[in-house]
Amino acid sequence: MNNSCRDCGQSGECRLPPGMLEQYDLGTPTADGLMIWLEVSRHAGVFLESSSLEILSKAREIYDGRIFGVVFGDIELKPLYAEAFSYGVDTLYHVKDRRLIDFHPEAYCESMKEIAERINPSIILMGATPRGRETAPRLAASLGAGLTADCTELSIEGTVLRMTRPAFGGSLMAEIVSNSVPQMATVRPGTFPLKKASGNTAGTVIYRQYGGNSFKTIIGSEKRYSDEKDITEAKILVSLGSGIRNREAICIAESVAKKLGGMVSCSRTLVDKGWFPQIKQVGQSGRNVSPEIYLAFGISGSIQHKAGIMTARKIIAINKDPDAPIKDIADEMIIGDAESILKELDRIL
Ligand SMILES: Cc1cc2nc3c(=O)[nH]c(=O)nc-3n(C[C@H](O)[C@H](O)[C@H](O)COP(=O)(O)OP(=O)(O)OC[C@H]3O[C@@H](n4cnc5c(N)ncnc54)[C@H](O)[C@@H]3O)c2cc1C
Repeated sequence: MNNSCRDCGQSGECRLPPGMLEQYDLGTPTADGLMIWLEVSRHAGVFLESSSLEILSKAREIYDGRIFGVVFGDIELKPLYAEAFSYGVDTLYHVKDRRLIDFHPEAYCESMKEIAERINPSIILMGATPRGRETAPRLAASLGAGLTADCTELSIEGTVLRMTRPAFGGSLMAEIVSNSVPQMATVRPGTFPLKKASGNTAGTVIYRQYGGNSFKTIIGSEKRYSDEKDITEAKILVSLGSGIRNREAICIAESVAKKLGGMVSCSRTLVDKGWFPQIKQVGQSGRNVSPEIYLAFGISGSIQHKAGIMTARKIIAINKDPDAPIKDIADEMIIGDAESILKELDRIL
C-alpha cells in the first residue's frame, strides 16, 4: 500500500488534512496586525508622547492592516483616546490600573505579552526612549522574537517589515529583516514627522486588568539634572566641541540657543572636561538627536559623534578646518573661529 501523501508526495501522514497544503503556505506567518505601545507623559499634564505618535504616523503610512495601541494608566487616560484614534489606532488596549501610572517595566512587559498573545500581531513597535529601551528587549525575549533597536527608517514589503538603523558607529546604514514573528523594532525619537491619519476620533477601546504582581517599590527618586527639556526634544541644537577653548562660550551658546528657541548640547570631550553633564552629550554613548537644525561649533565629526546626529534634518558645521570629517554629513560648512562666530551670531540675533 502506498503510504505517501497525495498532496505533497511525502511518505507518512501530513500534519494537515489533504487539500490544506494548497491553501496554506507553511512558510508564511499567519500573524496580522501591528501593535504599538503608546507611552504617556505625565510632566505638566497627561499626554501621549510625541515619540509614540511619530511611530504611529509612520505605521499608518506604511501599514494597511489593523493597528492596536496599548496604554497604561487609570481613568486620567480617557481624554487621550481621541488623539490615539486620530493618529490611526483602530483598537486601543487600555491596561487600567492605578499602580501602572508609574513605570514598572516587568508589569508593562507582562501585560504587553498577554495582549500580543491574544491579538497575535505580525509587528510590534515602540520608541527607543529610556522606557522603550528597557521594555522592548524584555518583551522580545518573553515572546521569543528578535528585536531591531533604534531604527531610523521602516518600510513594509508584503508581510515583511524592513528596519533600517545605523551600524558600525553610524558609518553605514543596515537594513534588517526579522526571521521571527512578531517582527519587533524600537524607533529613534524625532525620526518621523507627526501626521494625523484622519479626523476620525472614534474607535474601539478594550479595558484590561493587570493580574500580576511584578511591582518594585520605589523608595525614592532624584532628578539628575534640572527641569529643562531633554536635548532629544529640541528643534534647534547649538552644540559645542573641543574647538571651544573658553568656558565662557557656554553662556554665549545658551544665549544663542534661547534666542533661537533651542537648547545647548555638546560632544563627549566637553563632558570629559567636566563642562557639561553627560545628559547633554550627543553621540553613540550619549543621546541620538533629530533636531531641525544642528549647529556644530568646533566639533570634528568623529564616527561616535556622527552616530548621534544621523537623523538631524540640517547640519551646519562651524570649524576652522575645511576638511574636518563632519563635512561629509554637513549641509553647510562655515570656516572660521567657532567662538568668534558664536559671539557674532549672538550679537546679530
Ligand atoms: C566607545 C566610544 C564612544 C564615544 N562616544 C562619543 C559620543 O557619544 N559623543 C562624542 O561626541 N564623542 C564620543 N566619543 C569620542 C569621539 O571619539 C571623539 O573623541 C569626540 O567626539 C571628539 O570631540 P570633538 O569633536 O569635540 O573634539 P575634536 O575631535 O578634538 O575636534 C575638535 C574640532 O574643533 C575644530 N577646532 C579647533 N579649534 C577651533 C576653532 N578655534 N574654531 C573652530 N573650530 C576649531 C578642529 O578643527 C576639530 O575639527 C566616543 C569614543 C569612544 C571610543
